[in-house]
Amino acid sequence: MTAQIIDGKAIAEQVRGEWKKRADALKAQGVLPGLAVIIVGDNPASKVYVRNKVRACHDVGLHSEVHELPADITEAMLLKQIQDLNANPDIHGILVQLPLPDHISDDKVLETIDVEKDVDGFHLYNLGALVAGNTVFPPCTPYGVQCLIEHTNIPIEGQNAVVVGRSNIVGKPMALMLLHKGATVSICTSKTRDLAFYTRLADILVVAVGRPGLITADMVKEGAAVLDVGINRTDEGKLVGDVDFESVKEKAGHITPVPGGVGPMTISMLVANTVLAAERLSGLGSGK
Ligand code: NDP
Repeated sequence: MTAQIIDGKAIAEQVRGEWKKRADALKAQGVLPGLAVIIVGDNPASKVYVRNKVRACHDVGLHSEVHELPADITEAMLLKQIQDLNANPDIHGILVQLPLPDHISDDKVLETIDVEKDVDGFHLYNLGALVAGNTVFPPCTPYGVQCLIEHTNIPIEGQNAVVVGRSNIVGKPMALMLLHKGATVSICTSKTRDLAFYTRLADILVVAVGRPGLITADMVKEGAAVLDVGINRTDEGKLVGDVDFESVKEKAGHITPVPGGVGPMTISMLVANTVLAAERLSGLGSGK
């Protein structure tokens, strides 16, 4: 069996088009959805991610602004910048690109963002709401994966889902989202004794680790849906995921490529959350 390759780029564009209509409706009523992105230091990968996010907002006609801050900025100054953006009525979404320099606490920074503008969904309140099944802003990457699964009509309810990775930004929220949709969910980590035992049980396998070639064909159930979140750069400069794409695609039912799978969806979900925030803060549109 050769897997159906899930075209994340095409689905991401379709999703962006749907949210553009909602953004246009807001603009017609005098509200221009606005996203502020803060980037600290000059991590080249972070710069690429920020550029792609800003470009996506621009394509949909949103306002976006980037605040580039030096790596030696004090934590207090960064928090003040976030507070100013919290108070700015033209800004509906605030995103602080991670990682931050070691002298700055990620937690303090994320907790300072107004929950109603937390379009990345990383604030503890938003993560807690997700646990309770009351999502405020679903974190963009797992939300994008869920959207890919739904757009491809892959059933979730009653299926065995295995998530490899337990970060607060991908693995844990992903597992919760699948759980809320009725899947039976296992979460695997670096401490899991027999990873292949679990991955072979998966009807839906989401891999978010950051290790090229971690998942090989013998670890995948025939016909499974395999969603590869990993982004790794090889010595030759090529981008690859965590899944050995060439061999796994001969066994899986569906598979996402890297690049062109989950990555573009993450960005579309950021656009979605920014428009959603603007709807809610302005009291216009459905806000759902
Ligand atoms: P983290 O480093 O925060 O988490 C990685 C997780 O993988 C940890 O929970 C770790 O377990 C687990 N892990 C490590 N080694 C193994 C192993 N051998 N077997 C099983 N589990 C293992 O990473 P992130 O969640 O932030 O990101 C994961 C990947 O996804 C990265 O490649 C990142 O670049 C990519 N990414 C892609 C995005 C996109 O838009 N496509 C967005 C965000 C991330 P433990 O907790 O025990 O250490």
